[in-house]
Amino acid sequence: MNCYLVRESDSFTLIDTGLSGGAKSMIDAARAIAPEPIARLLLTHAHMDHIGSLDELAATLGDPQVAIGRREARLLPKPPAQDRSLDPGEPQTPVKGGFPGAMTKPTHLLSDGELYGSLRVVVTPGHTPGHLAYFDERDGTLYGGDALVTVGGQVEVIGFGPWFFPMTALATWHKPTALESVRRLAELPVRRIAVGHGPVMEGGSELLRAAVKRAEAKLR
Ligand SMILES: [Zn+2]
Repeated sequence: MNCYLVRESDSFTLIDTGLSGGAKSMIDAARAIAPEPIARLLLTHAHMDHIGSLDELAATLGDPQVAIGRREARLLPKPPAQDRSLDPGEPQTPVKGGFPGAMTKPTHLLSDGELYGSLRVVVTPGHTPGHLAYFDERDGTLYGGDALVTVGGQVEVIGFGPWFFPMTALATWHKPTALESVRRLAELPVRRIAVGHGPVMEGGSELLRAAVKRAEAKLR
């Protein structure tokens, strides 16, 4: 499971918070790069392996901004406040995967197309109903969260990876929606792809278009 530190002029943004117990190692990793604080915790979605250290980080860092998609925020609280309901326009398939919830409340609810720090917000539902990817327009890095996986030297649409990589696929809510989201991502001027699971890959929309083609073939 990958988390990413994104450098801003005076601070870091941390994309996703991993499993629980990771706060110290993430803060140490930032300090090893520069003395600036982690000022923003930015979530792609509310699965357990992405929000695990959120509460611990929020407590340790003091008062960081905490940002998540407006739709996904319904899945962030602990039960019973957690809302797993689906909206009328959405596929009526139950959400999948672990949503343990967090005590920390978001300070920012993000919408498609807005700029958060240096990152462009891209709504990419499918893995979860309110999944977000983030695109750094400065260097062309796409932080894809679990909209994509990189495995076996390739980028794959989440839920369409090879059989030996089933974990994130089993936790994917609606595969055709995930495919549609990657079609959107392929329109961005991407130069590097950094995902939640798998190594960072150099390359751009040609990799995403190839992933879409492979997924379309599997969907048929
Ligand atoms: Zn996930």
